[in-house]
Amino acid sequence: MAKRGRLFVISGPAGAGKTEIVKKLLQQHPDVRLSVSCTTRAPRPGEVDGVNYHFVSEERFKALIDEGAFYEWAHVHQNHYGTLKSTVQQELALGHDLILEIDVQGCLQVMAQDASVTGIFICPPSRENLEQRLRRRGTESEESIRVRLGNVAKEVATAYRYHYVIIHQDWSVEPRALEIATEEVYAVIAARRLELENRRDFLDALTASLKA
Ligand code: 5GP
Repeated sequence: MAKRGRLFVISGPAGAGKTEIVKKLLQQHPDVRLSVSCTTRAPRPGEVDGVNYHFVSEERFKALIDEGAFYEWAHVHQNHYGTLKSTVQQELALGHDLILEIDVQGCLQVMAQDASVTGIFICPPSRENLEQRLRRRGTESEESIRVRLGNVAKEVATAYRYHYVIIHQDWSVEPRALEIATEEVYAVIAARRLELENRRDFLDALTASLKA
């Protein structure tokens, strides 16, 4: 029987680059899977139903909550987002290592309900860097930048509850920043695969063969 896969939750403040990192990780390491969440927000141009998200109505989302279909769910930026239990169960049963790229509330829920889950927090290198990124977008008012930085402070306060913290450097400081952060996430996954618990069957067989 295939070994069960492991679950990894990745989160971090908006603008820290977690989506880019996860995208690169999946391109470079097809042995890692990403869970497709349900959301009530409208698709953005180019987003495909069933690929980026399962786009559902508020009614459908509420029905899924009532059915107990979610592994975790949260209300983020005026919309609902949730991970289906069926996705998690199927992928892990197939032996796939699965990433949930979800918000901080969702990550804390998942880590609280399953101690074997690995939490990875992606951090911007500094307040200045994050502020620059928000200003570069040119879409935020001063007030909105202040509100967002306040939210980031709350999110960063939760980073202490994760297992790993990855600093995503700015590309103007480190041109390979994205590659480095991506490989650091993969290093966490690779290290978990090498844990004794996953090697026990192999060691038992080797030990038995050595006694024969
Ligand atoms: P966006 O609308 O930009 O795709 O995502 C907004 C936020 O929702 C991001 O922080 C993203 O990580 C989070 N998110 C996406 N899917 C899920 C999910 O299934 N559960 C939770 N809790 N958050 C999610």
